[in-house]
Amino acid sequence: MIHQARLAALAALALAGCNAAGASGTEQADAGVGVVPRAEQPAKCPSEGAALQVLGSGGPIAETDRAGTSYLLWVDGKPSLLIDAGAGSFLRFAQAGGKLAHLDAILLTHLHADHAGDLAGILNSGGFEGRTKPLPIIGPADAPRFPATSEFLDRLMSKENGAFAYNGGYLDGTENKFKLEPRDVEVRMEDFEPSPVLSATGYQVTAIPVDHGFAPALGYEIRLGEKSIVITGDQNAQSLVFLETLRGAKPAILFAHHVISEKEGQPRGLHRSPEEIGELAGALEPERMVLTHNMKRSLDDLDNGLAAVAKNYSGPVSVAQDLDCYAL
Ligand SMILES: [Zn+2]
Repeated sequence: MIHQARLAALAALALAGCNAAGASGTEQADAGVGVVPRAEQPAKCPSEGAALQVLGSGGPIAETDRAGTSYLLWVDGKPSLLIDAGAGSFLRFAQAGGKLAHLDAILLTHLHADHAGDLAGILNSGGFEGRTKPLPIIGPADAPRFPATSEFLDRLMSKENGAFAYNGGYLDGTENKFKLEPRDVEVRMEDFEPSPVLSATGYQVTAIPVDHGFAPALGYEIRLGEKSIVITGDQNAQSLVFLETLRGAKPAILFAHHVISEKEGQPRGLHRSPEEIGELAGALEPERMVLTHNMKRSLDDLDNGLAAVAKNYSGPVSVAQDLDCYAL
């Protein structure tokens, strides 16, 4: 049974960001549904082991104190991988202690502004850090009305006609800029065979196609030894390749994009409803799940959303705020 009052209290606790003294770590929901209080999450990512920090926990609407979607993977205290760079993540990247000089690569789930809007600013900032080695940028290939990742960078920075042509040195490694190495990943639902798009020290990344309407889009699995982290990206419930590829994968943490509520009138063609997020979690069997890309409309109906998730997934659920760090 769901205890609504307790659920509401827990949700309020999580949303208030009560990660200071007084928010007991023993407050974890015992009713089988609810959110894990933020007290259980360290304020800073640990200097040993792996952790995924949520830089931006929001969506496309500037409506709260949440930046657009972005994550930073920490491996043994090193900021290793930036995943998405939504509007506002420029500031969160700096607040987290991110350095472009240390990154192995940048991953993009898709080329919507709430996922890639701050990329130009972050790259520009990184030009002042003295990085010399090339930086891979991995994202989707093209589709109608969406450039491929490589074309996106060309349109931003081409010396001929880029919007920021003065930064064209990032495309060819001249003018004291480090060279960007874009890689376009085909978003193919037929005959998909998972293979790593990145192999770095301590981890491997696989890109998996997801259905996000007209936008070619990817989710990511990051394998760190025996453990894994899965990021859904923006996806709807037709993302069967993603679901079947990862069915029973038992990731340590599933980061699920919580964009819509169960209410009528939500844009269901582009995103999983909370119940559909629960169905995905029920299939993947993560040890825990973090809801992020939190829109106000989904948070306003959080109690119903958590109850809908719990129909198919009974593990612990956290509601991310900007800069929350989740250690493996
Ligand atoms: Zn989005």
